[in-house]
Amino acid sequence: MKTRAAVLYETNRPFEIEVLDLEPPHAGEVLVKVAAAGICRSDWHLVTGATQHPLPVVPGHEGAGVVEAVGEGVTGVGPGDHVVLNWAPNCGSCFYCLNNRPSLCATYIEPTWAGTMMDGTPRLSKNGQPIYHFCALACFAEYAVVPQESCVLLQKNVPFPVGALIGCAVTTGVGAVLNTAQVQAGSSVAVFGVGGVGLSTVMGAHLAGAVPLIAIDTVAARADVAKALGATHFVTAGSDTIEAIRDLTQGRGADYVFDTTGLPAVQEQSLEAVRPGGTVVLAGLAPMGSTTNLPGAVITRQEKTVTGTYYGSAYPLRDFPRYAELYLQGKLDLDRLITKTYTLDQINDAYADLVAGKLARGVMVF
Ligand SMILES: [Zn+2]
Ligand SMILES: [Zn+2]
Repeated sequence: MKTRAAVLYETNRPFEIEVLDLEPPHAGEVLVKVAAAGICRSDWHLVTGATQHPLPVVPGHEGAGVVEAVGEGVTGVGPGDHVVLNWAPNCGSCFYCLNNRPSLCATYIEPTWAGTMMDGTPRLSKNGQPIYHFCALACFAEYAVVPQESCVLLQKNVPFPVGALIGCAVTTGVGAVLNTAQVQAGSSVAVFGVGGVGLSTVMGAHLAGAVPLIAIDTVAARADVAKALGATHFVTAGSDTIEAIRDLTQGRGADYVFDTTGLPAVQEQSLEAVRPGGTVVLAGLAPMGSTTNLPGAVITRQEKTVTGTYYGSAYPLRDFPRYAELYLQGKLDLDRLITKTYTLDQINDAYADLVAGKLARGVMVF
């Protein structure tokens, strides 16, 4: 069959909308009619080259849609099911899965980063030339063939754009709070960066009962949305950021500090902003090859903990429906995360808006 899709042929070039050939799903694979796909910075990292990947590639890893057809041996989903796409499936039986670290599962990493399905081959092509799939999802396209392990059932009364965001930003941010840090009610929390992941972190911390809940961003205009989602205070990032956080936490610093920017300088600030004995959670991806300078003596003397969180330490099969249910019950106001919607043809405008800092989250709808 044919599908329209956004293709990145070379780094630092615009996406091109193309009609591609898409093979039907092989054994263990699922054909999904994509309904919504989030405009996430991780796809932009392919454009800048900060994330290296075989090219040409169809990006898109934050998606939701309807199952159109399934390959041989697929049991978990069938035609007509609504699904959220999971970019980091976990196998359930490896060392990491058995030790409660599902986001570290390595079983599917090799084919995923080769840009293929699990058998090492792509389903997309143009004039016989292979086109690679980002995260084995490639959902900046009308149709996507994905591994069955990447499909998580979505309640049918949840809108697709909300489902798409659960597939990346929400799981990353809310999971960083609930799964990775396990924030307790009454803890003080500071969140650096209030883009899609940062706002999701704010929502997760609000849900956990964090007080005060301090959001920090360079864009002062983000204060309204951060406060609407539960931040008790907003600090415009500047030279007095650390002092402002200490002033709000009896001079100590916050119990938990989340960095969602992935900027080494902000990661270093996060360590300053956390109180002695507190925990810094690094949720934003720093560019490959970058280094962050965290003073070891401070970590030792002040017993500070620095930890990473990847995909919100999620069990997607457990967490996606849980976050969707929290949305349905009004506990996670995911509609507010969505600043603007776009069509597939507007993808370059969408990324221009993201880079210009205009979006909490943009979503492509089909
Ligand atoms: Zn993402
Ligand atoms: Zn595993």
